[in-house]
Amino acid sequence: MDLNVALLHEDMWDKQGDKVTTSLTLIDMHDIARSATTYGVKQFFVVHPSPAMRKLAHTLRGHWEEGFGATYNPNRKEAFEILHIAQSLDEAVMKIEMRTGMPPVLVATSAKEGDNRISFADFRKQLRFSTTPYLLLLGTGWGIGEELLSKAEFFLEPIKGSGGYNHLSVRSACAIMLDRLLAKK
Ligand code: SAM
Repeated sequence: MDLNVALLHEDMWDKQGDKVTTSLTLIDMHDIARSATTYGVKQFFVVHPSPAMRKLAHTLRGHWEEGFGATYNPNRKEAFEILHIAQSLDEAVMKIEMRTGMPPVLVATSAKEGDNRISFADFRKQLRFSTTPYLLLLGTGWGIGEELLSKAEFFLEPIKGSGGYNHLSVRSACAIMLDRLLAKK
């Protein structure tokens, strides 16, 4: 199994339906790194085009890897070991290809229903029996823009709750997806 995760910020929808680059939310880094480590994700990429935002990400990571955080909470340090900070999705793809010798299959995610979605069950099976690397694309803001979505080979079905309300944070959505895809049964 070779599943990777990318948290994306460029080419996102905002509330008005415009395309934006969203700000980095530091708790996203923490939480998704911990979920990803818990479920055996190979690499977790925080992708941001802004040098200032990437510097912020490096500072946070540094605190938990070498700073006070490393001794205060070694578990957090371990979770950051799979974290990579990248400027673009292409950079994340290249890093996975360098590690595995193959470009990853991109898998888009969204809360929205739509055509040609792959089910959690089918993707879980595919992951289990495949050596191909996959890269799960997580959005921010009001979701991933269509240009980025069009790059994906698969589109994972949305997580559905029990009623009409469906506004999970990306951190919560990621944890649920990883559990459905990778948890030991
Ligand atoms: N309405 C947006 C959408 O449809 O993607 C929700 C944006 S949410 C704040 C940010 C990201 O969390 C989404 O781009 C997606 O990666 C993930 N996400 C949130 N809710 C989800 C759901 N119900 N199913 C799958 N992914 C979800």
